[in-house]
Amino acid sequence: MATAIKYPVAGLAGMLVWASEAAELDERPSGLLCVGCEEPVILRSGEHRRAHFAHRPGATCSGGETALHRTAIQVISEGVVTAAREGRAYPFKLCCEQCDASREGNLARDPECTVEIDRPLSNAIRPDILVRGGNGTARYVIEVVVTHSPEDAALTEYRTHDLPVIVVRPSWDTMESFRNGLTELETYHFTTEGASLDVLGRCRFPRHIEPEEGALRSCPACKQSARLVTLEVSEMACWSRSCTRHVRVLDTYALLDEERVLIAAGASDLHSSSTIAKELGVRLEMRNSKTAGTRYLANICECGALCGDNFAYGGFGGQECTPIIGEGVHRYVVCTAGHWTAVSARHWPDGINLGRTMRGQGLTGEVSGVLEVPRNEASVSVTSAEIKDIARMMAGVIRPRR
Ligand SMILES: [Zn+2]
Ligand SMILES: [Zn+2]
Ligand SMILES: [Zn+2]
Ligand SMILES: [Zn+2]
Repeated sequence: MATAIKYPVAGLAGMLVWASEAAELDERPSGLLCVGCEEPVILRSGEHRRAHFAHRPGATCSGGETALHRTAIQVISEGVVTAAREGRAYPFKLCCEQCDASREGNLARDPECTVEIDRPLSNAIRPDILVRGGNGTARYVIEVVVTHSPEDAALTEYRTHDLPVIVVRPSWDTMESFRNGLTELETYHFTTEGASLDVLGRCRFPRHIEPEEGALRSCPACKQSARLVTLEVSEMACWSRSCTRHVRVLDTYALLDEERVLIAAGASDLHSSSTIAKELGVRLEMRNSKTAGTRYLANICECGALCGDNFAYGGFGGQECTPIIGEGVHRYVVCTAGHWTAVSARHWPDGINLGRTMRGQGLTGEVSGVLEVPRNEASVSVTSAEIKDIARMMAGVIRPRR
């Protein structure tokens, strides 16, 4: 059994030696040890096989799981510190399914950072890897999971320290990529046994709405029913063929049934949205659509043409959006009476990628569901499958320039 494992890396006097590099240099140093059990291994290489280290026949290795765990910890720790000292990034991918935002994180951001392996943090909790900043502040926990996920007690402890936890499920195939970052994990996710990465903890993207923030509350101005609404501004080309302007358009979101939903700004229960839009440099006007058979608030270009996807939203259907950096995400508590109480305005982090949600509500000016919906008013909801039909219905007058 032990001889069957093809280790890509071995230990030599406390350092890691890669089979691929040793084979290329045609080096066969003595004293190579298995990272898992610290028993000797030998380099096997040749024209027809990938270079690897293996135990001699008959060796009793502590087993692949321990070796995989210990090796990944060593490779990642060494990778983070080396990248930091050389001024390189040690990237990992941060993405959130709830708010559809992603960005590359960097574990080696602090050039003076240090790592601790299996050392107590507090309350007898020992993270596999703890990355500390140059000033000693704990920054990240990396848990390498081969058999057991981190214990609840550990996760609670990390939460009290407000430490993001990166859970890495390694495989031998992804091991060498850990020298330079944790970005290969997504690619390998479906092709090797269990190599994947999760980031536990609170999503910090400014568009994220936590369930407790998204619940119905009372309006600070009038005590009526209110809810948190976020506004995002982006720019897109005017839909009129004869216009070259880029138009500011608005995306309005709320958390409904625990899902982040795109709301048409002109939904009848969302009063005064055009006033707020104006403050953000977005022009919303009530227009009549013959094809849709209704009036609704549409995004309008200076030239008077309708803009934005379906004219009611900035964008739709999971497409990437380019937010206006500097505008960021504006949060308001909005009530039935149309009070918009500003809560915060946060900037987008650098390098962020933003998608747009696949679900929208209140498309044709009917109630959005942001506030309590009277029984006799039906909300128009849209799923991705219906987007094309609705776009066709509503884009009767002006067609996109493509
Ligand atoms: Zn071994
Ligand atoms: Zn999020
Ligand atoms: Zn109010
Ligand atoms: Zn225009």
